Amino acid sequence: MRLSRFYLPTLKETPGDAQIASHRFMLRAGMIRQQAAGIYAWLPLGLRVLRKIEAIVREEQERAGAVELLMPTIQPASLWQESGRFEAYGPEMLRIEDRHGRDMLYGPTNEEMITEIVRTAVRSYKQLPLMLYHIQWKFRDEVRPRFGVMRGREFLMKDTYSFDLSPEAARKSYLKMFVAYLRTFERMGVRAVPVRADPGPIGGDLSHEFVLLTENGESEVFLHEGLADLPAPPADTDFDSDLEPLFEERTALYARTDEMHDEALWAEVPEEARVTLRGIEVGHIFYFGTKYSEPMNARVQDADGKDTPLEMGSYGIGVSRLVGALIEAHSDEDGPRWPIPVAPFHCGIVNLKAGNAETDAACEALCAALEAQGVEVLYDDTGDRAGEKFARMDLIGLPFAVTVGPRGLKEGKVEVKTRSTGEKAEMAPDAAAAHIAEAVRAALMVR
Ligand code: ATP
Ligand code: MG
Repeated sequence: MRLSRFYLPTLKETPGDAQIASHRFMLRAGMIRQQAAGIYAWLPLGLRVLRKIEAIVREEQERAGAVELLMPTIQPASLWQESGRFEAYGPEMLRIEDRHGRDMLYGPTNEEMITEIVRTAVRSYKQLPLMLYHIQWKFRDEVRPRFGVMRGREFLMKDTYSFDLSPEAARKSYLKMFVAYLRTFERMGVRAVPVRADPGPIGGDLSHEFVLLTENGESEVFLHEGLADLPAPPADTDFDSDLEPLFEERTALYARTDEMHDEALWAEVPEEARVTLRGIEVGHIFYFGTKYSEPMNARVQDADGKDTPLEMGSYGIGVSRLVGALIEAHSDEDGPRWPIPVAPFHCGIVNLKAGNAETDAACEALCAALEAQGVEVLYDDTGDRAGEKFARMDLIGLPFAVTVGPRGLKEGKVEVKTRSTGEKAEMAPDAAAAHIAEAVRAALMVR
């Protein structure tokens, strides 16, 4: 992609109301533009990151056996009257009236709608287990929208719903999602730790928040530091095998949100292993039994022909929040340092003398060589000053930047900068392309 034909409205000044790095960088790098409090337009650069996150989420959902569908953003109030949540939900719900005076709402979540969809078609235990998910915009009229896309009012969420015959079977579905989540975040170049969360009225141990540990996080978490060192389960994990040992390994170590913090249990954690950190909630998984299936009458027949309400769970990931969260986890004073799997482009090319026949030809050849090997390139072919081009590259945070200038070319060299380490190396254009393509290939390999 040539920068001259792309749309990248970067800002020199830091917008006044942006309090944290990710919000500032997203505005300055031309990733988003605010339209109202907590409501953003996704500009081309930001959208590319959002789509990459979505793709990873989708792949890992499918691997775990969930099936995609798409529910609408607007819902009829009648569904929520059935579950009893229409009144209970409060002012976070955006209520709308259509021209016929019917009560509608912009969905903050989809438990009611998915229950309605499933109840008419799923009647027998033979159709279970079932996991359905979608990736759709939600609206919550948050009291304090802030930190850009991290706490927006309109935001993109992946939400999965599981349906089972018994609590034991529902636990199996929960464990599948638990493992899928560990893999999902790891593939984005971060480790989100599962933290025991408030299970709500049903009790039990089946509610976890996945927290990305960063200084600016909104939540406080208490954890055994060993938890952050456990790597994600591999891609060849059999989701139909017994996942209890894996779950046990992750949940044996103390990890609680501040609401769930337990001083007595905390005292049992060796003092040197206790850490209190801040983090960003990027996912939340939840088993809630028959909370919706009971009032909404979603029932199946078991093997003995007995009618039983479906056992359900729901599993959310904050897709748009992750764009900000990943920047919080990976950035320096100049901008984000995108991990390769979620970077908007893998590599930038800076032409130091656009319009010069040699540098133009070298840049174009390099673009072609990289793209032929699956590397996504943003080629700065503009006539802007060199300093401006370098600052812009750092601000958009692509994993690699290749600088091509007339002086280097005379010696047959270009300069390759690795954004994550700041390292610079001179090499022949062919070698640069091979080096970058290899790094990208390795980073995109699913393990
Ligand atoms: P929070 O405690 O941060 O308000 P929540 O418990 O209300 O989150 P869930 O209902 O579990 O969130 O939603 C699933 C995921 O959606 C959350 O883990 C989070 O990553 C994301 N999310 C929730 N609210 C917002 C928001 N206002 N803006 C962006 N992402 C959000
Ligand atoms: Mg909330």
